[in-house]
Amino acid sequence: MTGENLRYVEGEIKRACERAGRDVSEVTLIAVSKTKPVEMLREAYEAGTRDFGENKVQELIDKIPQMPPDVRWHMIGHLQRNKVKYIVGRVCMIHSVDSLRLAEEISRESVKRKVETDILIEVNVAGEESKYGVAPGDALDLVRRIAPLPAVHVRGLMTIAPFVENPEENREVFQKLKHLAVDIMRENVDNVTMNVLSMGMTGDYRTAVEEGATCVRVGTGIFGGRDYGSPQP
Ligand SMILES: *Cc1c(COP(=O)(O)O)cnc(C)c1O
Repeated sequence: MTGENLRYVEGEIKRACERAGRDVSEVTLIAVSKTKPVEMLREAYEAGTRDFGENKVQELIDKIPQMPPDVRWHMIGHLQRNKVKYIVGRVCMIHSVDSLRLAEEISRESVKRKVETDILIEVNVAGEESKYGVAPGDALDLVRRIAPLPAVHVRGLMTIAPFVENPEENREVFQKLKHLAVDIMRENVDNVTMNVLSMGMTGDYRTAVEEGATCVRVGTGIFGGRDYGSPQP
């Protein structure tokens, strides 16, 4: 099932690329495996997936040793500074950096471990109060402050678009993130590239690809719905 879902999502990404005149090799499908058992991750791995996304540090570090070493782990969830030490050197990218203090901690820990860490700046494009991420107007300033830090490299931007019924409603969000990346790229900040645009989830990844996504984060579309269990009393 997981393998079939993967093939379907890959086909949809290919078609979205064709519509947009893009090369499919520009887009990385990140299989978002949060809450899913390792057996399902292994199925996805067998079907060819190497990029997995998790949003909780504890779950991530539990799963890493249970999967083959060539998996590329993406931290896509909100990250607390006191947990940075558990994931630096073990993930290929942290998608959810939205403060200088968090970036400083990632830098410190990366220097200590003698590794280089790629990060994305999370932008709250739609201005939703419930979401993490910097306001679009503050992104360039944050990028400039992070740029001089050692062993940490800003590679692009990430956004979590609003939950909508019709993915067309998010097209503007994706266009805005793309434009913001182009604007920041034009500033030619040392140690900063804007090659990665992490946007699009199960409901809207096709639209995101049409608008320039280089990473789409798909969970439900690959692994099925998530059961978070009954709420704790
Ligand atoms: C859960 C999650 C996803 C995947 O969501 P689906 O709708 O299941 O595809 C993508 N990005 C982030 C940051 C997430 O937390």
